[in-house]
Amino acid sequence: MALNVMSIAEWQKRLKLGELSARELTDQQLSRVFEVEPTLHAYLEVTADRARADADRIDAARAAGESLPPLAGVPIAIKDNLCTKGINTTCSSRMLEHFVPPYESTVTKRLWEAGAVLIGKTNLDEFAMGSSTETSAFGATSNPWDPSKVPGGSSGGSAAAVAAGECMAALGSDTGGSIRQPASFCGVVGFKPTYGRVSRWGLVAFASSLDQVGPFSTSVADSAELLKVISGFDPLDSTSLKVDVPNYSSSLSKSIVGLRIGLIKECFDQEGLQPEVKASVLAAAEHLESLGAELVEISCPRFNDGIATYYVIAPSEASANLARYDGVKYGYRYEDSENLASMTSMSRAKGFGSEVQRRILIGTYALSAGYVDAYYKKAQQVRTLIRKDFDRAFKNVDVLLTPTSPTTAFSAGAHADDPLSMYLADLLTIPANLAGLPAISLPCGFDENGLPIGLQLIGNVLEEPKLLQVASQYELSANVMSNIPDTENFIP
Ligand code: GLN
Repeated sequence: MALNVMSIAEWQKRLKLGELSARELTDQQLSRVFEVEPTLHAYLEVTADRARADADRIDAARAAGESLPPLAGVPIAIKDNLCTKGINTTCSSRMLEHFVPPYESTVTKRLWEAGAVLIGKTNLDEFAMGSSTETSAFGATSNPWDPSKVPGGSSGGSAAAVAAGECMAALGSDTGGSIRQPASFCGVVGFKPTYGRVSRWGLVAFASSLDQVGPFSTSVADSAELLKVISGFDPLDSTSLKVDVPNYSSSLSKSIVGLRIGLIKECFDQEGLQPEVKASVLAAAEHLESLGAELVEISCPRFNDGIATYYVIAPSEASANLARYDGVKYGYRYEDSENLASMTSMSRAKGFGSEVQRRILIGTYALSAGYVDAYYKKAQQVRTLIRKDFDRAFKNVDVLLTPTSPTTAFSAGAHADDPLSMYLADLLTIPANLAGLPAISLPCGFDENGLPIGLQLIGNVLEEPKLLQVASQYELSANVMSNIPDTENFIP
């Protein structure tokens, strides 16, 4: 079966003209899922009945002559750390294996109100901690470009599902790069909005000062469509920003003549930067220059301190957020204990996997009375310095440009014995989370093994429209994605 590379706009047109019904599209989408899932395992649960019912409602509305909402019939996949009412939300953890949320997250609620169709819940690293989707308690996801490679993480299921045509678009969450890095590994577009632009209500908390929800799609225009629907103030999230939602789509066709694009020097000097990644990202920068943008070299001296800072702050917040899983209120409970203390500790020992336990230990240590000044507070101070570097940079340029990840997709198991080496995968994405800035990853080329390379653009606070403008102008003229994964070779 042919890959689904229809854009949201094209689909809406075909639906309105009656060329394809929502039910037909959904059925095609589901058969694609069943065809590739035995190899990819991008989904933890496929909600086929729900998807068909959603689609039938759209077709009925169309038949009745009602006006259709903006995402009518669009097949969407949702990372399994976003609460979906009545549908398991596991965070890929034994701890939440049987958790059925009694409420809907704000972002998913907005998607269903906009007519989107839920295809299923996607795999992730347990509690979104990881860069390869290998720490899932329910088995890893494979990269559709080469199933022996990881799809990136933690939102690897959503990225792989979009890349393999198992949905038209998806949602993920990004705490240190978990949308952008898998987008880069899977050759799709991934967008992390400004902190506070999109509600976190109903997103299972990992590190609350860093977490943001955002879209995956096969084009910049589709990401703009999703962003429009999920953005906006939410009284249920105390960090939600009370600002208007711009019409993101209208920035896509604007010329970039005269825009200043900063190349962060520190990113290109990295020792571990794969030469093909560097060459391809620099070629993309030159392409933008040929479209009329001005390239400027920028220094962000603290950029490379992001990773050390993040691995104090994120585990600290995680250790506090995950304290709620005590075997008492909800989640996994170890029944065979003699007293409350052993029930709680055994529930946590058996319910959480080793990466999650490692983060809890690091975070608890960094927050403990004797060390909080040396570690947590120090990390917060460095975080401020990183933000100041960006503030200085944005006085001089409109957007910043870097590779998304130092390498292309690595082999499954490559970092199994050395978690610290895995942490380096987020070197280039973490600083935007620490500073709360919007950032996008989009495909800009392929390495010699045919694996996709991602380009990252970072914008100033609330300047999503400018990111979409530059990304879309690049995408429309560079034509990188004429190449799509050849999944035929692993379809049984
Ligand atoms: N890979 C990073 C981590 O392991 C980022 C995760 C994320 O963005 N959710 O923490």
